[in-house]
Amino acid sequence: MSESLQQILWAVESDDLPVFDYDGVVRWEPGALARCVAAGLFYPAEPARFLTCYECGDLHESEVVFFPHVVTKKLRAAIACTLGEVLVPLERLQRWQMPVGTFLDVAFSHVERKGPPTEIVPGRVWRLGKATWANSRWNVFFARRLHWSDAWKVINQAQFPARSVVFTPQRVAELDERIVTRPTMVALREILTWGDGPKFVFDHAYVEDHLAELLRSIAAQPVKKKPRQHGPRAVHIDAIMSELQQHLRAARDHAITTRDQTGEPALLKPPTKETLAKLVGVHKSTVTHCFRDKSAVMLNYLWNLAHDVDRILDYRATPSIGS
Ligand SMILES: [Zn+2]
Repeated sequence: MSESLQQILWAVESDDLPVFDYDGVVRWEPGALARCVAAGLFYPAEPARFLTCYECGDLHESEVVFFPHVVTKKLRAAIACTLGEVLVPLERLQRWQMPVGTFLDVAFSHVERKGPPTEIVPGRVWRLGKATWANSRWNVFFARRLHWSDAWKVINQAQFPARSVVFTPQRVAELDERIVTRPTMVALREILTWGDGPKFVFDHAYVEDHLAELLRSIAAQPVKKKPRQHGPRAVHIDAIMSELQQHLRAARDHAITTRDQTGEPALLKPPTKETLAKLVGVHKSTVTHCFRDKSAVMLNYLWNLAHDVDRILDYRATPSIGS
């Protein structure tokens, strides 16, 4: 995914009033800023009052001061540094804002609407309109921060009608038994890209395929579910997986927090197999057997994931589409 789109999706997920500054935008892929402006996503915001100093190596922030050039009288900008006043190009003062409503207008321009997006859970869920996918009409919603621990409350509060698709920026909500009706969720990071011009391309084929699949699975659902056969080994594998999933959620939050604080995600120490045995209440050798079991593909996958901080950042307990 392009750097600009990644940053835009992060911003719309986390910021109430996303603002982008020149120093950040200038590091995006070539042409990104012009594209965001031309797409109608970015509007000029108040100029920066503080800038980072790249002169002395300390990367400190200093307030911007203005003074006229002695000869030309043209206004110049500078920041204070231990090395003295450091001149800064005026273009570095530029900032752009992207209201969430503007983002929704641009990203969901194909959704049939009766009016502007309606915020149905403040700051979290918006009703966008209706769209046809897989020969069915769907209620289209946008929701964000569904990776927060209160996601179950937000989803219950929204009371999504049947045949709803909820689009999220980065992540979808995890399985949670407190959710009364879990809507189908699709992360925009999976389906949104930049087209050739200043326009998003929305991967309708992806949405279409998944919704068709969902409709087929609903239609094929037997009236009475056949109970899954569970040997003791399978029960233990499930229990260990559930411990690992719990750890991975905490590890992901830890990785995100440390990345935001220090720039580098840190790995939360994974539980040892001994610890897992204690948590599940079985002997260590049982855990060893579980990991060696031919059917324990997912278990081994989760175990490897718990040791890989980069992949943990993308960890989701559920696929991006579920019902
Ligand atoms: Zn400095």
